[in-house]
Amino acid sequence: AMELGGGSYEFYTEEMSKAAAEHVHLGSSLSKSLEREELIVCYQPQLELPSGRIIGMEALLRWRHPELGLISPASFIPLAEETGLIVSIGEWVLRTACQQTKEWQDRGFADLRVAVNLSARQFQQEDLVLMVDRVLGKTGLPPQSLELEITESIAMNDENRVITTMHQLKRLGVRLAIDDFGTGYSSLSYLSRFPLNNLKIDQSFIQNVVNQDDDAAITKAIVSLAKALGLQVTAEGVETKEQLAFLEQLQCNKIQGYYVSKPLFAEEFEQFLQKRESA
Ligand code: C2E
Ligand code: CA
Ligand code: CA
Ligand code: CA
Repeated sequence: AMELGGGSYEFYTEEMSKAAAEHVHLGSSLSKSLEREELIVCYQPQLELPSGRIIGMEALLRWRHPELGLISPASFIPLAEETGLIVSIGEWVLRTACQQTKEWQDRGFADLRVAVNLSARQFQQEDLVLMVDRVLGKTGLPPQSLELEITESIAMNDENRVITTMHQLKRLGVRLAIDDFGTGYSSLSYLSRFPLNNLKIDQSFIQNVVNQDDDAAITKAIVSLAKALGLQVTAEGVETKEQLAFLEQLQCNKIQGYYVSKPLFAEEFEQFLQKRESA
């Protein structure tokens, strides 16, 4: 163990309990965030290659905390998963994103598709398929306009159940994507057993795809693996035109990242669409 002087040890424990207290505090206010209408869905555009068209967006959650301001999902999603709150929050995100997308479709952006993140915890819910079906029915969004993103971590759960649930979702007509591909430690064999449509290459590979041979090789291999399995490929975290050019050359199907746009509030996203259309 590290040698700590009395003073710094005290300081350390004080910091720890403060962090723990904040965690508890965040937890209790997170449980009220839904009814207090503090949660917000942002939308990050997705660009299709080679057409260069905006064909959809990913819904990304934000929390406008009354004291702490805008909080990123990385700092509260884990808490929401631990406490199970992710189930009701996730349903709210899905409903909000589907309703918003349907509105935009009705206002002329008829082909728009939305991708929504599902946590492993949501995937374990008995009534997930019914919930998705109900949300689609209520909002009127065509099922093929919805893509659900799940991570490799769900492959850790009872595989037969996971596959059954996926087939039921597919039967509703929704699309399925594997998110953060390449970062989980699961075997690749699930790729041929899961009924997937899309594979999203994690942004950690894209970051140095232009200047690091290893990342370029991995990205190339992922794209050809996906193509061989008949899946579409989306690259995440694309920030430069050099990265875009590299991915275009690989015939990657879609890109998402700051190069196109950061995640936008709904009003901003609509302005973004209108600007692109008139350009
Ligand atoms: P993710 O699903 O992998 O989402 C992509 C993240 O990368 C987003 O972070 C996005 O803002 C960020 N990003 C996009 N383009 C770029 C880029 O060019 N460069 C860099 N450096 N980053 C980029 P965000 O919004 O903070 O979300 C973090 C994670 O939180 C998401 O990662 C997802 O795992 C989770 N999350 C967000 N919304 C939801 C939700 O509604 N439900 C669930 N279960 N998880 C969510
Ligand atoms: Ca995602
Ligand atoms: Ca991702
Ligand atoms: Ca991620």
